[in-house]
Amino acid sequence: MDKRVALITGAGRGIGAKIALTLAKENTDIAIVDYSDESAAKETLEALAQTGVTARYYKCDVSDFNAVKTVVDQIVKDFGKIDILVNNAGITADKLILRMEESDWDRVLDINLKGCFNMIKHVTPYMMRKRYGRIVSISSVVGMMGNAGQANYAASKAGIIGLTKTVAKEFGPRNITANAVAPGFIKTAMTDALTDEQKQAMYKQIPLGCLGETQDIANAVKFLVSDDARYITGVVLKVDGGMYI
Ligand code: NAD
Repeated sequence: MDKRVALITGAGRGIGAKIALTLAKENTDIAIVDYSDESAAKETLEALAQTGVTARYYKCDVSDFNAVKTVVDQIVKDFGKIDILVNNAGITADKLILRMEESDWDRVLDINLKGCFNMIKHVTPYMMRKRYGRIVSISSVVGMMGNAGQANYAASKAGIIGLTKTVAKEFGPRNITANAVAPGFIKTAMTDALTDEQKQAMYKQIPLGCLGETQDIANAVKFLVSDDARYITGVVLKVDGGMYI
């Protein structure tokens, strides 16, 4: 297979950065789209440079429809194509509905869900021309089970699942697959800060008895964009240690 090009949103750090590194090790060139300053992604870019692939950073807010078009066009100019799109950028603004402001709702839906639409809208015309595309969007088990205090987040992550299934149906005939990955609790700076007591309470909800690693999510994405997954589209792959069965 020719060297592929992956556009990964929110890949400056966290799960997205691990996805970028994992795909880079599969000989894939990487376009990171993130709204933080490039300096925040220094570690990620340095690690990518060690892999020998081409990696470039594009500052862009995925919730801005026109800015996404501009950045997608620029990435195609720079790399010649986009084979893989990973919609990973996401935020939380947790509050019970009683306290949730309209702005909390709008911001989370705009970034987590509309951001995926914006990317898919602007990337798919290029994929269609090549009759090839692999789209993976990062949902969450919270989008399937709900979670008190996360109405906006859960709705956005459930929305990603409906969007993914629709994209799979609309673009399947063009050899473009669309799948979602739904992580459970993943070990991040946020979960590291929890007390042992809080961690024990969390483990009780997880049959495998531990948190997931960012690498577990990256491995799922690596599989879904690989040739081994060529006949898989429209699925939601839970990577949650059995938390939601
Ligand atoms: P993170 O906060 O560490 O990283 C998110 C990245 O997205 C950051 O680099 C940030 O700058 C970028 N970003 C945020 N808003 C953006 C925007 N509007 N435009 C462009 N970039 C933007 O988060 P993470 O823990 O690595 O999570 C990554 C994804 O995985 C998110 O979609 C999240 O909802 C999902 N997820 C995470 C967990 C978990 O336990 N960490 C669980 C389930 C799902």
